[in-house]
Amino acid sequence: MKHVIALDVGGTGMKAALVGADGALLHEARRATGRERGPEAVVETITAFAADLRAYGEERYGESASAAGVAVPGIVDAENGIAVYAANLGWRDVPMRALLSERLRGVPVALGHDVRTGGLAEGRIGAGKGADRFLFVPLGTGIAGAIGINGVIESGAHGYAGEIGHIVVRPGGIPCGCGQRGCLERLASASAVSAAWAAASGDPDADAADCAKAVASGDPRARAVWLDAIGALADGLVTALTLLDPRTLIIGGGLAEAGETLFTPLRAAVAERVTFQKLPLIVPAALGDTAGCLGAGLLAWDLLATDTADPTHATEEATEVSA
Ligand SMILES: [Zn+2]
Repeated sequence: MKHVIALDVGGTGMKAALVGADGALLHEARRATGRERGPEAVVETITAFAADLRAYGEERYGESASAAGVAVPGIVDAENGIAVYAANLGWRDVPMRALLSERLRGVPVALGHDVRTGGLAEGRIGAGKGADRFLFVPLGTGIAGAIGINGVIESGAHGYAGEIGHIVVRPGGIPCGCGQRGCLERLASASAVSAAWAAASGDPDADAADCAKAVASGDPRARAVWLDAIGALADGLVTALTLLDPRTLIIGGGLAEAGETLFTPLRAAVAERVTFQKLPLIVPAALGDTAGCLGAGLLAWDLLATDTADPTHATEEATEVSA
C-alpha cells in the first residue's frame, strides 16, 4: 500500500506516523528526542527513527514509503532543506533533507517548520478546513504563527513569516530573548501566564492551567492576570488581522486548553479593538499535539503531487520523445 513517512521533531519528544493517501494514520510511534546528548546525536536519532519507519512500512505494506515529511523547530529553510537554527536542540545549518534522503535510500524528503507544518494540517483538515485565508497561532512555551493562503502556508522570503510572538505590544516592557522589549510572547504565552500567576498567587509551582481554573472559580487575582494576558493577545492579534484579513483565526497550544475561559473574553477583547476590520471566526485548534505530524504527512504527499505536475519534468520527457 502506498504511504508516506511523517515525523514531527519536538524539543523533548518526536511523533511519527505512516500516512496513507487518504490521510489515514496507518502506524504511529513516539521516541524521545534526547537533546541532552547534543545536536549530533539528535540528528542521528531523527534519521535512525525515519529509517526504522521505512523498514516497518516495507515489511508491513510490501513497499517502502514514497516520500517523507519532517517538521523541525526553530528557523527552517524549507526550500533548501536546511534546519538553520534551533535554540532548544542546539543545532546550526544541518542539511536535514539531504541526510534523511540518504538514510532513506533516495526517498524524496520535505522539510518544514514545526508551527507552519502544524498550521498546514489545521488549515486543511482541522479547525480551518475549508477556509481560504487563515491564521494559526499556538500559545505554548512561546508564540508563533502560520499564515495560510489557499491551502498553502506562506513562509516569507527568508522563512521568517508568521513570527507574531515578537510583535511588540507593550513598548518598553519585559525584555525578550529576541532583543526587543514587550513582545507578545512575553505576555500571552502559556509560559508567560504561568510565570505571572506563580508571582501573583505566591505559589512557585502554579502554572497557566492553574490560573485558568482559578479564573473559572472566580478568583479576582487570577482574573487580573488572565485579562492582562488576553489584552496583550488581542492587541497582537488585531495587528495581525489588520495586516492579513484572515477568514479564520485558529488558536492552539497549551493556553487554548482553557476552552471558553479563554475564548469568550478573547473574542470580546478582539471585537472591542477592531474598528473597520472584519472580524474573523476565532476558533480553537482541532488537532492538538498531532497537528505537526499530520502536517508533515501532508508535506510528503504534496511533494509527490508536485513531482508529477512538475513542468520541468514534463519538458524533459517531451524532449526525450522528440529526440
Ligand atoms: Zn521578542
